Amino acid sequence: MTTEERAIAIPAEAPKSVTILGSTGSVGCQTIDLLQREPERYRIVALTANRNVEELSRQARALRPEFVAIADCEFYDELKANLSGSGIVVGAGPSGIVEAADANAEWVMAAIVGAAGLKPTLQAVRRGATVALANKECLVCAGELLMSEMERCGSTLLPVDSEHNAIYQVFDFERVEAVEKLTLTASGGPFRLFNMEEMRSVTPDQAVAHPNWKMGAKISVDSATMMNKGLEVIEAHHIFSMPEECIDVVVHPQSVIHSMVAYVDGSVLAQLGTPDMRTPIAYTLAWPSRIATPSERLDLGMIGRLDFETPDPERFPALRLTREALRAGGSASTVLNAANEIAVAAFLAERIGFLEIASVVEETMAAINYGRLAGLDDVFLLDDKARQVSGEIVDKLAGS
Ligand code: NDP
Repeated sequence: MTTEERAIAIPAEAPKSVTILGSTGSVGCQTIDLLQREPERYRIVALTANRNVEELSRQARALRPEFVAIADCEFYDELKANLSGSGIVVGAGPSGIVEAADANAEWVMAAIVGAAGLKPTLQAVRRGATVALANKECLVCAGELLMSEMERCGSTLLPVDSEHNAIYQVFDFERVEAVEKLTLTASGGPFRLFNMEEMRSVTPDQAVAHPNWKMGAKISVDSATMMNKGLEVIEAHHIFSMPEECIDVVVHPQSVIHSMVAYVDGSVLAQLGTPDMRTPIAYTLAWPSRIATPSERLDLGMIGRLDFETPDPERFPALRLTREALRAGGSASTVLNAANEIAVAAFLAERIGFLEIASVVEETMAAINYGRLAGLDDVFLLDDKARQVSGEIVDKLAGS
C-alpha cells in the first residue's frame, strides 16, 4: 500500500461534539480560545450564559452552535433578535440551561459559577456525557449525589480546577491504597502578606486582583479569603475519595506546582506548569490524549526558586470552616457553600467588609440544623434556607 492509499484508508476522526455551560465566563472563554485554534476538531452543540447577551451572541455567530441559552429571561428577546436568520435555536431561563446540558454533546464543560450550575451539570451527567468540571460549587453542595449519579450513569468526570487536574494526572487510580496523602497548593491570594488590620479595609477591586490567575469575580474573592482552597479540599475529597485528614494545603506563591500526590513509599508526584487555565482545560478536552496549547512554557531557571508556607488559620478562617463542614458530613457543605455565595456577593456589592465574609458563613452554619441529604430536592431546600439565613445576617451587618 502506498502512503497515499494508506492516508485514504484511515478514516478521518469525526469532530468531537462539545457544549460549554458558562461560555461567557473566564473558563468558558478560555475553552473557546482552545476550540477556535483547531475548529475542524470540534463541533459546538450548545453555549450558555447568565446575562451577558452581547458576548453570547458574538460567540454564537462565530462558532455556530445548534443551541444557545441565556439564564436570565429578560435577555431572551435580545438574544433571539441578535441571532435571527442564523438557524441557531435559542432558549432561556434555568430550564433553557438544563436543555443545553441535555443536548447531545459528548463533552460538556461545566463552567457556570455557583450552585446555579448543579442542575445542568447533573443533567449532563445523567445522559452519560464526559463532564469537564470547573464548577466546584456543584461538588461542594451536592458531592455525594453528583458522584453517585456519575457512577450510576457511566459519566466520566475530568477535573478542570488546576489543583485537581494536577492530582488527576499523577493519581494512581489502579492502586488507590498506595496513595497516602494529597497536597493542594494555594497561591495565598492577594492578601497573603497583609495583617488583620490591613485585611479589614480591603476593597473588592483589590480582592479580585489575583497575583497569578485571571478569573471570575467570585472565585477571585474566594482565593483572597482562601475559601477557594477549602472548597477545593471538599472537591478533592469527592473526586479522589480521600478522607479530610489526608488532604493537606500548602501555600506556594509562585503557582508552579499545581498539586501533589504522596505515596506510601515516600514518593511525591506533582504536576507543574505556568499558571494558565488553558493547560488543564486542554487536558480535559483531549483526554485521554493531549493537544498543544499556546500556554507559556515553564522555565524553572528563570523562576529561580519555589517557596512554600503553612496557611495562617487566624487570617484565613475559611479553611477551618470548610474542614469542619466536611467532617460534619454532606449537608453542612451545602450550607457553607450557599452562605459563602451570599457573603461574597454582599462583599462585592460593598455591603459587608472582607473579614465579614467568613463570619457570615460561620454564623449561618451555627444557625442551621443540617442533617442527611436524601436527594436533590433536599439540596435545594437547604440551599434556599442557608441563603435566607445568611442574607439576614448580611442585612444586619450592613445595617439595612
Ligand atoms: P465567571 O464569573 O467568569 O463566569 C461564570 C459563567 O457562569 C458565566 O458564563 C456566567 O454568565 C454564567 N452564570 C453565572 N450565573 C449563572 C446562572 N445563575 N445561571 C447560568 N449561568 C450563570 O466564572 P469563572 O469562569 O471564573 O468560574 C466558573 C467556575 O469555574 C467557578 O465555579 C469557579 O470556581 C471555577 N473555576 C474557575 C477558574 C478560573 O480560572 N476562572 C479556575 C478553577 C475553577 P454571564 O457571563 O452572563 O454572567
